[in-house]
Amino acid sequence: MAQLKEWLHTHADQLDQSPALAENVLPALAGDELLRTGVPQEHGGAGGDVRDAIHAIAKVAEQSVTAAFVFWGQRCFIEFMLQSPNRALAERRLPDLLTGKQAGASGLSNAMKFLSGIEQLQITATRQDGGLLLDGGLAWVTNLRKAGFVAAAAVAPNDGAPPAIVAFDSSWAGVQRSEDLDLIALRGSNTASVKLAAVTVPAADIISDNATAWLPQVRPAFLGMQCGLSIGLARASLAQAASISAGSRNQLTPRISALQETLETAVTTLLAGVHDGRFQSQAPAMFRLRIQLAELLQQALMLELQAMGGRAYLNAEQQGFARRWRESSFIPIVTPSLTQLQAALQQFDSQQLSSQQAAQA
Ligand SMILES: Cc1cc2nc3c(=O)[nH]c(=O)nc-3n(C[C@H](O)[C@H](O)[C@H](O)COP(=O)(O)OP(=O)(O)OC[C@H]3O[C@@H](n4cnc5c(N)ncnc54)[C@H](O)[C@@H]3O)c2cc1C
Repeated sequence: MAQLKEWLHTHADQLDQSPALAENVLPALAGDELLRTGVPQEHGGAGGDVRDAIHAIAKVAEQSVTAAFVFWGQRCFIEFMLQSPNRALAERRLPDLLTGKQAGASGLSNAMKFLSGIEQLQITATRQDGGLLLDGGLAWVTNLRKAGFVAAAAVAPNDGAPPAIVAFDSSWAGVQRSEDLDLIALRGSNTASVKLAAVTVPAADIISDNATAWLPQVRPAFLGMQCGLSIGLARASLAQAASISAGSRNQLTPRISALQETLETAVTTLLAGVHDGRFQSQAPAMFRLRIQLAELLQQALMLELQAMGGRAYLNAEQQGFARRWRESSFIPIVTPSLTQLQAALQQFDSQQLSSQQAAQA
């Protein structure tokens, strides 16, 4: 990790503000064998479980959220392979994904929104020779390397069958990647949109033929690894705030220590829930943690800003604060966004209330 840490530390601002190093991020992560983290050894991984992947993503996010989000996309796709009932697809794809030779991307925001009843699926599918013929597109996908990628997406069959999750390859006819999106931050993340026009997906590339049943099963890993972004960024911000505040007159040290403690307690709860499987049946508990971690990150950045005072406004002296501030604005909006989660929790609470009232009646 030392070499990667050094590389990320040196290039974090550039990764955030320019696409120049976008193609280098995945090889840098792979060079440190990070892509194998939390992947069982029998599948070519380093062993451990998804908790190790969350730790590793948080560690990278301490240095650069751009690199951590690329890592998240790649590691999510790897997780989809691990959890796919299509073992032949996993065996075919995993070796190149784990070495970073192949970029993997998660285009499942649309699917997650669909699962919550917020959005229609954006890709339609017609049956063809046991496989599917796709039309549609995805507005946002990260880790779409210009050198090539494979991406996961949910598609709606037009014969009334349940939605499916497929893996499509950038080399296939009809797959069209846009230019990089003109982002305000995370510009080195290879984020673009994709259009799919009459794309043939063989049956061998279907990850799951029942997205509605499969997505809740992968959601704890998907969301847990996403929380790694908030955790790493909050840790970095609090560490910076703590070092500036030590021995200063700003009187923030007790508040910084208290927030560090609250953060680590939330991390422990998250890791335990992801590990013991409770978040598969208790999604609201996980949603609350995702919201809490995003809020702790905002508080952490406020403390860093206040610890620095005016220096946070001086380019030459802000020591990564401006980047962390920009990077943090991604956290509330990445799917599932905070407003979506709050709406889902409200719905859950009112359902609970109605069933309690019905039981009492
Ligand atoms: C840099 C970047 C990289 C991304 N990478 C990926 C990726 O790799 N894969 C991927 O799949 N997606 C990716 N996304 C998409 C991201 O996860 C979100 O899906 C997208 O930003 C949300 O879309 P929107 O804000 O356009 O949503 P809109 O639907 O336009 O919503 C606008 C706002 O209203 C809220 N909202 C909408 N409907 C509801 C509702 N019913 N209840 C409560 N709140 C609601 C939304 O949460 C949002 O805050 C990326 C986005 C960004 C910015």
